[in-house]
Amino acid sequence: MSSTISFSEQVNRNFDKAAAHTNLERMLLTQIRNCNSIYRMSFPIKRDDGSIEVINAWRCEHSQHKLPTKGGIRYSESVNEDEVMALASLMTYKCAIVEVPFGGAKGGIKIDRRQYSERELESITRRYTFELAKKNFIGPGVDVPAPDFGTGAREMAWIADTYQAVSGGNIDSLGCVTGKPVPQGGIRGRTDATGRGVYFGIREACSIEEDMKKLGLSTGVEGKRVVIQGYGNVGFHAAKILEEAGARIIAIAEFDGAIFNPKGLSVQAVHEHRVETASIVGYPDAEILATNMAALELDCDILVPAALENVITAENVGNIKAKIIAEAANGPVSADANDRLLERGVMILPDAYLNAGGVTVSYFEWLKNLSHVRFGRMQKRFEEGAFRRIVSAIENVTHREFADEERQSLSRGASEEDLVNSGLEETMVLAYHQIRSISKRLGKGVDLRTAAFVDAIEKIAVCYQELGIFP
Ligand code: GLU
Repeated sequence: MSSTISFSEQVNRNFDKAAAHTNLERMLLTQIRNCNSIYRMSFPIKRDDGSIEVINAWRCEHSQHKLPTKGGIRYSESVNEDEVMALASLMTYKCAIVEVPFGGAKGGIKIDRRQYSERELESITRRYTFELAKKNFIGPGVDVPAPDFGTGAREMAWIADTYQAVSGGNIDSLGCVTGKPVPQGGIRGRTDATGRGVYFGIREACSIEEDMKKLGLSTGVEGKRVVIQGYGNVGFHAAKILEEAGARIIAIAEFDGAIFNPKGLSVQAVHEHRVETASIVGYPDAEILATNMAALELDCDILVPAALENVITAENVGNIKAKIIAEAANGPVSADANDRLLERGVMILPDAYLNAGGVTVSYFEWLKNLSHVRFGRMQKRFEEGAFRRIVSAIENVTHREFADEERQSLSRGASEEDLVNSGLEETMVLAYHQIRSISKRLGKGVDLRTAAFVDAIEKIAVCYQELGIFP
């Protein structure tokens, strides 16, 4: 859907709005806002039919105030330089908000991945990585890609393998990319991390009575009517975890259609239907909506746009009925739609905070790669022994024996996945209360997005000020 201004102007408009709430020097703000470096490349690949195609791709490093820079790589026909710049800048702010010590970056390859065979995708991915390596745009201490729209663990494994082949025995080379399959240096919990983070953010927002009252909602996720737009990795996991927490997923929209059931859809059953038929449309226990965009306009409590940017714009904002918009995607609400929603009192949980779960767990994966040890390996058994001794001591004092199941659950040591999920929860909870308290401190109805940007700008500014470059 169209927007009157470009995506990067949109992000910059949010930046400027927030910058006005800081006392920072103009040149410092300009340095924080600008994209530091961008590499645009073209390279040929051989198609399966023997023809040659020239591929266009980008990598943008928005800010090196912390290293490495970090951000996903998207494969999409609509990728362009402006989009990659906007997404890279969002990564900078995102990392600052959740205190992940990275600068922001983003990459894109302009292809419709469904039009390419696995072999072709592999050769595109490997060549792209090689181009990045040639120009020092990838490396565990330089710039670390990750999955994004249209990419996943398989592509990350190809990137890691290519980088390892050209990096000359760098012992930390696995840390050159995150979101890898677990046997190739990935971490448990990364695949569902963004969706899980979205859930934690929504749960925190819904737990505050004062804020829910203003929206005319009760506290808690339980019973909330949720619409999910985009049923990829992020949308699916967010839906699944929200459903587990008692929310009712009343509609799901994908690029080829949308389904609706006011009583609630079974997330797992819809997923299985899609695996079988390659589409969510036709799922038996639901009504098919006229268009996929119609799902956005349904009466619901929480709308979760989880696909691409600019799906809520000046054109459809008047029809949006959700009380909370949870931005699982990057940039789903255009700048003008954003202002209109805020005027109407809609709560927007901003992308730069809400979808930061992915990069948070990427950070854990990178730490794992650099430390060369799985989280939990050193302490799990030790913890279990200590817990068992505490359980026996309690049994001795109380003269009561725990049931086997109870004893086992009380003396369980933390696995890698437990630690990842708990680190993610801590991050999302802390950051939510931080941005909420900034919005309260600034007063005058300052929204959560502006507060999140103020938080990011102030944290990044400190890095430059400490260098003595700016006052
Ligand atoms: N592509 C994801 C994002 O937009 C993840 C980035 C990462 O893990 O580096 O946040």
